[in-house]
Amino acid sequence: MVSIKYKLACVVWELTLGCNLKCLHCGSTAGGRRAEELSTREALDLCADLKKSGCLGVALMGGEPLLRKDFFEIASRVRELGMELSVITNGTIHSEEIFENLKKLKPRAVAVSLDAADPALHDKIRGAAGAFEKSNAFINRCLKEGLPVSVITTVHKLNIGELARLRDFLKGRGIAWQVQTAGGEGGRFSKEFLLDPEEFYSVGLFVEACRREYGPEELPVIGAHDLGYNSRLLKNVSLYEKWEGCQAGVSVAGVRSDGGVMGCLAINDEKFLEGNVRRKSFYEIWNSPDSFHFTRNFKKDQAGIICSACSHVETCKGGCNEMSLMKTGAPHNDPYCFCRLEKEIFRDELKNPLKNISLKISGLAGGEAFRKLGRMFSGNRGDKP
Ligand code: SF4
Ligand code: SF4
Repeated sequence: MVSIKYKLACVVWELTLGCNLKCLHCGSTAGGRRAEELSTREALDLCADLKKSGCLGVALMGGEPLLRKDFFEIASRVRELGMELSVITNGTIHSEEIFENLKKLKPRAVAVSLDAADPALHDKIRGAAGAFEKSNAFINRCLKEGLPVSVITTVHKLNIGELARLRDFLKGRGIAWQVQTAGGEGGRFSKEFLLDPEEFYSVGLFVEACRREYGPEELPVIGAHDLGYNSRLLKNVSLYEKWEGCQAGVSVAGVRSDGGVMGCLAINDEKFLEGNVRRKSFYEIWNSPDSFHFTRNFKKDQAGIICSACSHVETCKGGCNEMSLMKTGAPHNDPYCFCRLEKEIFRDELKNPLKNISLKISGLAGGEAFRKLGRMFSGNRGDKP
């Protein structure tokens, strides 16, 4: 029976950890394959098991998922079973066959990573000469073929200065743009490149400014779901109107290429492995009362010192657990939520009731703008909802 309490909206599936690039910020330090990645047979069985678990959509990522020879066999099975498909790729692997097959799959999104408009900087971050040229050609070909192409930009100190150039590079081209921030889990990434609090907040400000200046038709841009939230000022960053807390194990799950199941692959910590599909089916793991304790059974008294006294804690549950773990070593204690950052950054203004007035002036995007943006990020880019 499909879980009534926890409806599985999306599974992010790392098809392989193998990758042809060596991105500095890669949270899972992809390059070589994991030992004992799932075989084609096991992957196809998992597709059926995800469907049985009520999964609505699957995002295939890596490593670089297109390196798997059976990529289209697995992706086709996802679609045959009636689940939505998103493909997250570095965009450096091209062939006529790839574009033909992608078109047949009618994916919800084909997301390509682009970290700078400056080719040399993108190549430096991605660890491969010529990566920008290939990824840009991939994006252009997707546009030509009418595929719903997105760009994902991962921001850190090396490329925060590129955001405005990327905006100018992408706007007006029908490309949905997701801006996210780098975590510190990867083995190639020096923590000195992580954004400091003001820089992190400025990424939210940048997205907000873009959303106020450009309509969703000209520049459909969102911050990642865990960028900020509970802000008093910024109402146009994410694709939801209210942050409902970390969804790891609540409405989303991740599957590693060796069959390991986690609430969220970004956490990248073995302690948060809930099981392996080789030993227990995904269906059993998802429906077990013993799974995903950290989010499903959250109690207010589990919140860390940053969050325990916050008025949002009951619904927010201490924010993004990946960020919380990375910064504080414990879940439910995210120091980078916009609620807290604003208290720090605008401490003086918040004390002053006159200045405080200006903090309340925040232009809401409004329902129609949200709906239009939602269409750009759902593969349905026509005028009709
Ligand atoms: S302080 Fe913690 S509970 Fe409050 S909004 Fe931020 S992350 Fe959420
Ligand atoms: S840990 Fe953070 S990135 Fe992962 S699902 Fe939760 S909020 Fe999202």
